[in-house]
Amino acid sequence: MSAWPVSSPLAVLGEIAAPKEVMALEAAGLRTIGDLLDWFPRRYEDRRRFDAFPAQAAAEAVCLRGTVVDAVRRRLGGRRSFYEAVIQEGGGGILTSNRVTCRWFNMPYIHRMLAAGHEVVLYGKPKEQSGRLLIDHPEFEVVRDDGADGPSLHLERIVPIYPSAGGVSQRRLREMIHAALERLDPAGVQAPCELDPARSRDETLRAVHFPATAGEAAEARRYFAKEEFFLLQLNVLWRRRLYRGQQGRRQGARTALLKAFYQSLPFDLTAAQKRSVKEVAVDMRREFPMNRLLQGDVGSGKTFVAMCAMLLAVESGAQAALMAPTQILAEQHYLTFRKWLAPLGLRITLVTGAREESGHLELEGSPQIVIGTHALIYERVEFRDLGLVVIDEQHKFGVTQRGRLVRRGIMPDVLVMTATPIPRTLTLTIYGDLDVSVLDELPAGRGRIVTALRVKPKVSDVAGFVRAQLAEGRQAYLVYPLVEESGAVKARSASGEFEKWRNRLKGWEVGLLHGQLRPEEKEEVMNRFRDGSLKALVATTVVEVGVDVPNANLMVVHHAERFGLAQLHQLRGRIGRGAHKSYCILLTDGRNRESLDKLRVLEQTNDGFRIAEEDLRLRGPGEVLGTAQSGMAGLRFVEYLADTNLVREARQLAEQMLQRDPDLRNHPALRECIRPAGDPAAGTQAT
Ligand code: ADP
Ligand code: MG
Repeated sequence: MSAWPVSSPLAVLGEIAAPKEVMALEAAGLRTIGDLLDWFPRRYEDRRRFDAFPAQAAAEAVCLRGTVVDAVRRRLGGRRSFYEAVIQEGGGGILTSNRVTCRWFNMPYIHRMLAAGHEVVLYGKPKEQSGRLLIDHPEFEVVRDDGADGPSLHLERIVPIYPSAGGVSQRRLREMIHAALERLDPAGVQAPCELDPARSRDETLRAVHFPATAGEAAEARRYFAKEEFFLLQLNVLWRRRLYRGQQGRRQGARTALLKAFYQSLPFDLTAAQKRSVKEVAVDMRREFPMNRLLQGDVGSGKTFVAMCAMLLAVESGAQAALMAPTQILAEQHYLTFRKWLAPLGLRITLVTGAREESGHLELEGSPQIVIGTHALIYERVEFRDLGLVVIDEQHKFGVTQRGRLVRRGIMPDVLVMTATPIPRTLTLTIYGDLDVSVLDELPAGRGRIVTALRVKPKVSDVAGFVRAQLAEGRQAYLVYPLVEESGAVKARSASGEFEKWRNRLKGWEVGLLHGQLRPEEKEEVMNRFRDGSLKALVATTVVEVGVDVPNANLMVVHHAERFGLAQLHQLRGRIGRGAHKSYCILLTDGRNRESLDKLRVLEQTNDGFRIAEEDLRLRGPGEVLGTAQSGMAGLRFVEYLADTNLVREARQLAEQMLQRDPDLRNHPALRECIRPAGDPAAGTQAT
């Protein structure tokens, strides 16, 4: 018997896979033995020891083994039906009375897979209903253990559970993968570089599919996570080098405008701001385009660094554009820029979806600075000579949108601002090809923010506190997680509570702000809050990003447990912007211990980086980043991004590789892993 190279077509599996199965797998994108072996388990079941049949509902899924004693199809009225199977504990002869009922709704084909007498392994979350224990839509597998052909792949061991592939059953998939591993030619599965001196890739591949222990599975997965991150970093570093090889524009040699701007400011820039401006200026003067990330907590003064960069571009004769994620923000930036830069004689224009007309948009009077929303990326906005692109993104823009704006100019310099402090490991990955400046210092003269968590407080107490602040002349945000009350989710909504707050705050003007208002309505509400005619704002998270009203010093967040930590930190950044002492009050029903612990982190610290790390630990990278937006959608081992050491090691391995073999001439397989850059400035695009 000869060994199979990874490139062998699935047909080599011969009798192990029926032609129909091979076709189904091919349709699912698995064409070769290598593809099949790359189909990693999504979880494992330890089938040497099953859970006891539950006596009550459970929060976690359980893994049970039993026998089907009864199975019937039941009607629900109309055409709908469900299939119900009663499973009794124990395989074969064991007599106990413990049972669970499993139900499958609208899956008529289940009855062909499962019938009385079958032995099954079940995986699902049990619940209690009218005295019965139910598991709806459990994962299940019919098992046999006749012991005839030696130790089974499917029982008495840690068993891999795969993502579904072309409708082929778990059992069959497991058998095929096992056969492929037995006959595999190890030559084809060498590691791209030495990822771990203690193990071979070949061995690790076996361990990831058929681990002997849970620990072995975890180590194997970590190995492949490292491999994935290594390839990712190789791409990131490759792209970074390509970018640096391009001919950009040298701008920013003259600094008269910048000096005039400094002199016009009523304050000094913070040391962190000065350092960042310097880093930006050095980049802009280089022959290759700037590609820099400016990271800083809310209120750290990023906008002023952006203004400085824009002044450098303008004095070099180019136009500068700033793209904001929402219309409210674009308008606010516009006002800020007008306030600070118009006195220097600069021409500034606002372009948002609401204001643009159809047809080409001649930028009136050839503005030097253009502020806008994503409307800026459309062709009809005509730039004369776009030399600097500033993107205020906060995870709201996809990689492609960024790239589209960048292409509106000729090799413009690019500055990306983010107010969401992200842990260093994530920066390396999502923004790995960008240089990073950090504003790690807040401007002086800020009032302190006191954050307090309150479990089920009296409404009258909360309203009393709000009234006291309004009586002092301050303004308040009253934040809710939803726009409208919905039956399913028991959280109070902004619209629903608006009337109540108007009553509670009689004598003061109260406004309502949420994402479903028309843009001009939003604009009006924001303007009235900004000019102080509205004293309180009942709002959803639309106030999350960038809204700047220094006189607002109080924020009450209802159902705080429904928000992520980083999001709450963002919200809290709306206050503490003036000299007054500020209060962030987090209200919660206190039902859930974990969410209380989470919220306490906010009471303890105001440090965005610490909060980000905690958020990452609690929710995992997938949740924190929103995978689709951040270009991480294709990562198989997203959860390992929280593993700082792993990410660092992968980065180092990639750096070493490119130092030794800059063009990857001696590593053709790696060279093939380099993805073409959509746009070099577009950030990381994991594949
Ligand atoms: P960010 O964009 O990082 O959230 P901003 O640039 O909007 O922060 O600045 C927040 C507030 O701080 C603004 O009201 C701004 O006028 C003020 N500010 C910025 N830099 C300074 C500074 N160096 N000293 C004092 N106030 C500053
Ligand atoms: Mg440059």
